[in-house]
Amino acid sequence: MMSKVLIVGSGLVGCLLAVLLHKRGHAVTLCERRADPRRAGYVGGRSINLALSDRGLLALRMAGLADDVAAVSIPLPGRLVHGANQQTSFFNYGLNGEAIHSVSRGGLNIRLLDIIDSLGIDIRYEHRCHEVRLAVNEADFVDASGAVHTLHGDVILGCDGAYSAVRGALQKTDRFEYSQSYLPHGYKELAIEAGPDGSARLDRNALHIWPRQSYMLIALPNLDNSFTCTLFFPFEGEPSFASLQAVDDAEAFFARVFPSAHALMPDFREQWNNNPVSSLITVRCEPWGATTANGQVLLLGDAAHAIVPFFGQGMNAGFEDARVLASLLDEHGQDWSVASKEFQRMRKPHADAIATLALDNFVEMRDLVQDPTFQLKKRIEAAVARACPGQFVPSYTMVTFRPDLSYATALARARAQDVILQQLMGHPSVVADPTSAAHEALYRTMAASLPPLQPDMR
Ligand SMILES: Cc1cc2nc3c(=O)[nH]c(=O)nc-3n(C[C@H](O)[C@H](O)[C@H](O)COP(=O)(O)OP(=O)(O)OC[C@H]3O[C@@H](n4cnc5c(N)ncnc54)[C@H](O)[C@@H]3O)c2cc1C
Repeated sequence: MMSKVLIVGSGLVGCLLAVLLHKRGHAVTLCERRADPRRAGYVGGRSINLALSDRGLLALRMAGLADDVAAVSIPLPGRLVHGANQQTSFFNYGLNGEAIHSVSRGGLNIRLLDIIDSLGIDIRYEHRCHEVRLAVNEADFVDASGAVHTLHGDVILGCDGAYSAVRGALQKTDRFEYSQSYLPHGYKELAIEAGPDGSARLDRNALHIWPRQSYMLIALPNLDNSFTCTLFFPFEGEPSFASLQAVDDAEAFFARVFPSAHALMPDFREQWNNNPVSSLITVRCEPWGATTANGQVLLLGDAAHAIVPFFGQGMNAGFEDARVLASLLDEHGQDWSVASKEFQRMRKPHADAIATLALDNFVEMRDLVQDPTFQLKKRIEAAVARACPGQFVPSYTMVTFRPDLSYATALARARAQDVILQQLMGHPSVVADPTSAAHEALYRTMAASLPPLQPDMR
């Protein structure tokens, strides 16, 4: 059954969804608040980049786009930790050489928009959604001249990000649950340019992290050998964005705390002054949609579940939304009323789980990565996982490299495995040498107390 689908927002999720739905025979119109980034330049500059991992890749593969994206991404098999003592240590992300992929957000969005054009999908830029009338499945869009365009869709999909206008309409309906919460930390982006000969000034095969307890700096490589750095830093207190307003203070602080990064930023002062500080929000809401007399309204991606970026999963979760919705439509003969109800029922617990995991991972990244007890626990985790493949799987692996497991299963399993790790931390012989073959029988016995780890994603 072919439907007229109106997608609000041509960010990453809106674009992928447009391709998936167009390929299923639906008549898709995409409306985007901004101008075409290929003409206007990508808002936010070229710098913002993201870690794409297996959930996102699986969704891109469903749309036939994984190769396009692989061509513009850089594989990162691990993180390189820059300690406060200036020493570095490399940690693999997976036990078997798995990698996440650094990709430019602007570059990926533009690649998806090129594909949308090549498929002849109707896309309207400078169309800002300012009202959705749920009762009649219509939305009003204001263009650059201030003119209002009213469009109807059998289905309206809100892919308009964390501050979604479509969600705004749902928020006015009875018993709509909504919460938002901001981290006390914000972020500022800074760049490390390629060297004078065009070469990379840090190792390109790693996500770099400078953990400093209450704050941290990270850097991801770009295709042109530059790096995008993100400073996650408190808004208030000491030190904070508020306490470092004067650029002299900021530079002195940066040079003292992140000397190896500061040495690679000759234009630090200009960047500090010019680049904005942005906030980090978690949004939870329910339901994600409504069935109206004239069709369906549904939220996906950040519009339904904005999360903090510390597990590198916001886009991946949004892409997974798109893949699951497309699968449900296929399963139910493109019947939106069934698919969208099923979608919300299935996805909401997983969105809640990744929101929790992402918040937890902030503490791990900035505070714990350097902590000897945490490092010991990670060594034990890896040793148990090696002894019990498929039964005891590190939490990072479940979230990042196992799209056959839902986020909710990854969270529940990680909590159960953590109890085992805590118990093992109480065994002096394990603590002395976690990788000794003598412990394997113990590891297997303890892991066997957990139920089998069953794939639960379609
Ligand atoms: C610092 C940072 C680092 C991140 N790192 C990662 C990472 O490593 N890995 C990862 O998976 N995720 C990461 N994320 C999260 C990721 O960026 C988001 O989850 C992802 O962009 C969400 O995609 P979306 O399409 O749902 O929303 P968006 O990307 O926000 O796109 C929404 C689109 O809707 C448009 N729009 C908004 N309002 C309207 C309106 N009223 N009318 C019409 N159009 C509208 C916007 O212009 C935009 O084009 C990170 C986020 C941040 C902030």
